[in-house]
Amino acid sequence: MNYKVSEEMSVMEKLGILTDAAKYDVACTSSGVDRKGSGSGMGNTVAGGICHSFSADGRCISLLKILFTNECIYDCKYCINRKSNDVVRTSFTPDEVCELTMGFYKRNYIEGLFLSSGILYNPDFTMELIYQTLYKLRREHRFQGYIHVKAIPGADPFLIQKTGLLADRMSVNLELPTAEGLSRLAPNKHRKNILAPMRQIQNGIKSSKNEIVLYKNAPRFVPAGQSTQLIVGATPENDYQLMTVAENLYEKFELKRVFYSAFVNVNEDKELPALPGGPPLLREHRLYQADWLLRFYGFKAGELLSEARPNFNILLDPKADWALRHLEMFPVEVNRADYQLLLRIPGIGVKSAQRIVMARRSSFLSFPDLKKIGVVLKRALYFITCNGKMMYNTKIEEDYITRNLLTVKEKLPFDKDGITYKQLSLFDDVGFTMQPNIIDTHKAVLGQM
Ligand code: SF4
Repeated sequence: MNYKVSEEMSVMEKLGILTDAAKYDVACTSSGVDRKGSGSGMGNTVAGGICHSFSADGRCISLLKILFTNECIYDCKYCINRKSNDVVRTSFTPDEVCELTMGFYKRNYIEGLFLSSGILYNPDFTMELIYQTLYKLRREHRFQGYIHVKAIPGADPFLIQKTGLLADRMSVNLELPTAEGLSRLAPNKHRKNILAPMRQIQNGIKSSKNEIVLYKNAPRFVPAGQSTQLIVGATPENDYQLMTVAENLYEKFELKRVFYSAFVNVNEDKELPALPGGPPLLREHRLYQADWLLRFYGFKAGELLSEARPNFNILLDPKADWALRHLEMFPVEVNRADYQLLLRIPGIGVKSAQRIVMARRSSFLSFPDLKKIGVVLKRALYFITCNGKMMYNTKIEEDYITRNLLTVKEKLPFDKDGITYKQLSLFDDVGFTMQPNIIDTHKAVLGQM
């Protein structure tokens, strides 16, 4: 297949452009998949082990995160790579992506690849290039590390199927929560073209799991599941609408993760909102906290928010906020409460709830025991009793508890300059006083340093 690439650019120049172009896609963390090294290939993937290096703001940093190309036939208003923008365009070839991935992997810079792309010529053409890249990596270079790849909406399902048999995770970005938002800001994209590959991947994962039960060596299709990304703040939807969409995606499409990306205004366009305070990072943070509550704590979106109360409390995390609105349920006796109720107590997480259930089989728990177990007592003390007694003689009253919780400083995932959306680049200074220049980096990748 022939296609035009920027011949005059070196691979490292392309890398600089195409890693930078990928930084607004946050859907890149991996989780829970095993791929044993065969002994003849390179690398392996370990459940709970790979790609769990995160930057301070919780983003995954150990994948080589690139776009295949920043050329695009579409004109999404929020995107730096939209066709109407005058930016330097380039594309990798499949061989170049393989060379970079293997080079960085061998030098232990990365544990896998996150490959996204603009749309070059048409969705099929782009998906075919992505497939070729993965095929070469897996079959020719025998790369067995982690690969997260985008499924291109509108591409032939056969190409998506073939690619899914080589990838660990796939994602299709929904980007905007409603069809109206999509048609206003991304007029070339259609919700049904996004949901169709999502459904295909969901069905492929299910059949693959069934086949593996019957035949141990059956090929695995997207074993680490699928994810998506929602942009927060580009369109006027409230938190309740966003959480409801996320809940539906988890329930109806069995997604592993929904990622939330605070809208960063990189284009001047009258359709885009002006955000004088910068990207809505605190809102993004609250959505991640609430998403955690949906996935691991048994909460429903409708319990956390409602039409009448459609946005999260900026001052309090969603779980504390929920507890304060349900003070009639508290205090809870930790020696008797069931697991689900323990999970609803501020200051008690999944691990500490599990440990409480285990530990109380052999003895009654006291406050010092809870502290040892990992309960954050300065938050939990307003909501629990041990053996019928509260830790202090405290009021169970909304204003009083709110004031006291606010004095317990919440650790927000912000840099000191308030910016979290910056993707760590392969060239970022991570503690060294000097950054390698692009020539040094190229030499290092090619093993000349
Ligand atoms: S499809 Fe839209 S969001 Fe994706 S690269 Fe093209 S313009 Fe950007």
